[in-house]
This record gives sequence, C-alpha cells and structure tokens, in this order.
Amino acid sequence: MNYDIIIAGAGSMGMSAGYYLAKQGVKTLLIDAFDPPHSSGSHHGDTRLMRHVYAGNHTYTKMAIRADQLWRDLEEVSGTPLLIRSGVLNMGATGSQVLKEKLDHANSHHIRVEILNANEIQRRWNGIHVPDHYAGLYEPEAGFLFSEKVVQTYRDQALLHGASLLTNTTITNIESDNNHVTVTTNQGSFRAAKLIMSMGAWFDTASHFIKLPIRPLRKAVAWFEAEESLFDYKQFPGFTIGDGEKGFYGFPSFNGSGVKIGRHDAGQLWSPDHRFEPYGHYPADELDLRAALESFFPRAAGKVLKGAVCKYEMTPDEDFIIDRHPLHSNIVIAGGFSGHGFKFASVVGEILTDLIIKGKSEHDTTPFAISRFADSY
Ligand SMILES: Cc1cc2nc3c(=O)[nH]c(=O)nc-3n(C[C@H](O)[C@H](O)[C@H](O)COP(=O)(O)OP(=O)(O)OC[C@H]3O[C@@H](n4cnc5c(N)ncnc54)[C@H](O)[C@@H]3O)c2cc1C
Repeated sequence: MNYDIIIAGAGSMGMSAGYYLAKQGVKTLLIDAFDPPHSSGSHHGDTRLMRHVYAGNHTYTKMAIRADQLWRDLEEVSGTPLLIRSGVLNMGATGSQVLKEKLDHANSHHIRVEILNANEIQRRWNGIHVPDHYAGLYEPEAGFLFSEKVVQTYRDQALLHGASLLTNTTITNIESDNNHVTVTTNQGSFRAAKLIMSMGAWFDTASHFIKLPIRPLRKAVAWFEAEESLFDYKQFPGFTIGDGEKGFYGFPSFNGSGVKIGRHDAGQLWSPDHRFEPYGHYPADELDLRAALESFFPRAAGKVLKGAVCKYEMTPDEDFIIDRHPLHSNIVIAGGFSGHGFKFASVVGEILTDLIIKGKSEHDTTPFAISRFADSY
C-alpha cells in the first residue's frame, strides 16, 4: 500500500503531526520502534512545563502562544484534560539579562506576568526559600502538560481520523528519489510520496541519510515527598531556577505525587548503542536534585517516592531543527528539541503539516534551519 506521508518516529512531535495530517485527510503512516507513549524516549515521566515567555528570539514566545491555543483545542475535541494551569514561577538573579528579556517578551505579546522580589516570593509561597538577590517572574496562565496522556490523545485522534500506525517497528533504512521515499523496517518496506523524520534521540541511527549534530543526554528526574499543604498544585506553581551555572525545573505535587524536580544542565551522554542506565545508577541522580530542594524548598526534600530517566536531544545552540532535508525536498526533519520542546509539540505538529504539504509555514522557522549545521551533513 502506498501512503501520502510516512512519519518516522511517532513520539511527541511525530504523533502530533500524524493527527494534524490525518485530520486533513492525508493518507498517513506512523512508524515507531516502541508502542507510544513509552518510557524509552523523551516524552515520559508524567509532566512537562508549559510556559509562554522565552528570552532571546521571539519565535519561541509566539509559538508558545499558538501551542497553548492548540492544547485547548485538543482538550476540547478529545474531552481529555491535558494541561493544569498551576502557574509557573521562574527564579533567577535580580536584574539578569534573561529576566529582562522575558519581561520584554511578556509586554510585547500581552502575556500576563508578575515580577516578585525574594520577600514577595517567600510571602506568597511559604514553601520557598530564595536568596535575597533573587527575583521571580510568575506566569499565572502557565502550568504543566500530562505528556504521556498528550501522546496517547494524539494517537487516538490520529487513528480516529484514519491514520495508520505501526508500533514495535524499527526503521532500518531510508531512501529517496525526491518523488518517493522507501522506508525499510524490521516488518517490511513502505513507500510514500513524502516523509517526516521525528526520531528524537535516535537520529544517529539514520546518519547514512542525514547527519545532524544532535547529542542525546540521559537525564534523571525524581519525585520527593513534600508537605502537601504547601506543595499541592492547587497552591504551588511549577518552577524554574537558574543561577547562571546550574538550572533546575520542577512541578508541584499532583494528587500526592510529591514534588518532581529535574536538572536542565548536566546529564550523561548517551548513544543508541549504549545501555540506558536506570534511575539511581549515578549518585548524582538523587544528590543534585536533593541539594536544590534543600536550598530552595526544604520542606519538599523528603524521601524519594519515584525516580525516572529520560532523554534530551541537544543541538549545539539548543535551538530546534525543523526544516527540509538539504538534498530531498520531499522530506522534513524535526529534531534536537534540546530539553524544552514538549510544550511546542502541538504547534510543531501544525508546522510540520504545513511544511510537508504546502512547503511553508506561517511561523518563522529560520532559527531552526538545518543549514546552520551544514558542516555536519
Ligand atoms: C526529563 C525531561 C524533562 C523535560 N521537560 C520539559 C519541559 O518541562 N517542558 C518542555 O517543553 N519540554 C521538556 N522536555 C523536552 C521534551 O520532552 C522533548 O523535547 C520532546 O519530548 C522531544 O520529542 P521528540 O518527538 O523529538 O522525541 P520522542 O517523543 O522521544 O519521539 C521520538 C520517537 O521516535 C521513535 N524512533 C526513533 N528512532 C526510530 C526508528 N529507527 N524506528 C522507529 N521509530 C523510531 C522513538 O521510538 C520515539 O517514539 C523534557 C525532556 C526530558 C527528557
């Protein structure tokens, strides 16, 4: 059977694109090596922060606004709650450039934020302890997404609209003559006019076809027992902490889950031919996270209730790669989401759909151009 479009990798970005394509009546085949949502890639561990205000390039802030609308739409069509608007508090040194730029973005894009000094933060959330030189930018409309539920919802909706999905099917080769692609898997070969490659941490396995400077990292997260009266999501926000050296992010307790925290920098290099060590393999898995909790949220530094490891796929500049294959115009690549991509999965699905069907997107994708890594392919 021939398809209009094959999606190689049906995780966060691929499954979303599968939904938007199928909804438009495009004959779509999604292929995944696992059975998404699954716990081997980048989308598990229950939750992902959904913030709107970025520093630097305005593209991300604009995309976050559109992503938010699409999350609302998905909740509505599926009848599934996916986003909890607990608010998100970003903490860092007062007067930092990042904080200034975020405030500028909030003003330019009419996003409601509050700037709080250390005293105001501590008065508002009794569970927080911050150094005097810290300030916070609080986004009341931000919150967190249930990431596995999102992937499952996109899967259900894509199938409802007629997409085909092959699970537990590993892609071993890709060929293109610019009019057609042939995707070879351990379950046979499939042909389509066009292809989206959204292979997360596994792009290296397709290096015969496209070489990208994506470095997969093993990242540990853990849920710590916390005083529920202080840290439950109804009174405590999601958070990021950045002191210019180390960066942490985390989530309030949800239905007694405990406070979940992860470290954005650091992590261990991983490659597809390496073992993926479980949570707790390295002492730092817990120690780093506990140290941050003891400093900033001492009453959430209880025993570890659960730990998990997940994969980041880092580009050298931490900007995404969303672009046409440099040699094959019928192939679009989406990768290198560098530990901050999930909030955009909805809008990325929409962008991929436009790029593969119309050849262009309303969103500015120039920061994601593959040509900035022309040295590697
Ligand atoms: C611990 C952690 C915390 C994070 N926190 C946040 C956050 O708070 N906010 C935020 O916005 N983002 C966050 N992120 C980042 C975000 O989750 C990722 O950017 C996003 O999930 C990447 O999506 P993806 O589609 O590229 O990868 P995935 O969702 O992993 O999908 C890739 C898919 O490709 C499939 N695949 C690969 N190779 C093959 C092959 N050869 N054959 C068949 N299938 C294949 C895989 O099985 C997988 O299902 C976090 C990530 C991690 C790990």
